Amino acid sequence: MFDKLREIEKNVSETLSKARSLDELNEIRVRFLGRKGEITTLLRGLKDLKPDERAEFGRTANEVKDHLEMAISKKINDLKRLEMETRLQNEKVDVTLPGLPFQRGGKHPLSLVTEEIREIFTGMGFSVAEGPEIESDYYNFEALNIPKDHPARDMQDSFYISEEILLRTHTSPVQVRTMEKMAPHLPVKIIVPGRVYRRDDDATHSPMFHQVEGLLVDTRITFGDLKGILMTFARKIFSEDLEVRYRPSFFPFTEPSAEMDISCVICKGSGCRVCSNTGWLEILGAGMVNPRVLQYGGYDPEYVTGFAFGMGVERIAMLKYGVNDLRLFFDNDVRFLKQF
Ligand SMILES: [Zn+2]
Repeated sequence: MFDKLREIEKNVSETLSKARSLDELNEIRVRFLGRKGEITTLLRGLKDLKPDERAEFGRTANEVKDHLEMAISKKINDLKRLEMETRLQNEKVDVTLPGLPFQRGGKHPLSLVTEEIREIFTGMGFSVAEGPEIESDYYNFEALNIPKDHPARDMQDSFYISEEILLRTHTSPVQVRTMEKMAPHLPVKIIVPGRVYRRDDDATHSPMFHQVEGLLVDTRITFGDLKGILMTFARKIFSEDLEVRYRPSFFPFTEPSAEMDISCVICKGSGCRVCSNTGWLEILGAGMVNPRVLQYGGYDPEYVTGFAFGMGVERIAMLKYGVNDLRLFFDNDVRFLKQF
């Protein structure tokens, strides 16, 4: 039995030196020291020995056992350390390498254009006003001189929440809302960027789009002021050399009213597909504030005058960036958005 014990000890040392993984070491431990392991089995034969032999064999067996336990533990530590060293070697970080690029995203083209419009007008002394997107029939139509049976309502069919509440069809309700708050103080000099809603949906119309409204009310405001401010705006946002023209138009809340055209930014006026060979592009509607609207706002049209204008942000962005389908702005296709 002593021989057997020595043999086991030798076996263990040999297999141990060959072991290359923690799994293998575990197997070795089970094989020799486990409950059904070789040494345990050998110790079961203890009872067959003479008493004096029994004591000595027990002591020797325990020594071998302790010795093996220690050898296995040491081997486990060696392997773990080796594994850690290999990992450190493989995963070495070179802190002097340049960083990886980080995707930061960017502003939406409509936000960029809105910001530019804001900057140009605030630069001319306008402040920015806002109003609710869910609007009453009164502010959206009545107070802008569009009574219930007015045909102009057909062009601005909207989404009604009830008979008297709707999603605003333009940013113009903020004209009267602001005048009510400010009257009788002068001047009222605001722009109103915001979302508006209409029941349209095609390549140049979307049920939700963006407008920027403008209003300037003061004593002695004339159509000349309107032309000066709007031409300055058009030249700043497109190009300094463009020409501007006004065509008579109709809006219930301005009188007289006009559409402002700019010389085509694509062909510079010689005629192309974008301008339908006219050389001109319509970019906004404007006019002198209708005296009735001034009254609704709490101002006396005998003493003050004003002009107002409104433009579609999508329209400006399409012309500025050469985009031919308005719906691209709302598809959220990264390939499109990345270009701005
Ligand atoms: Zn053109």
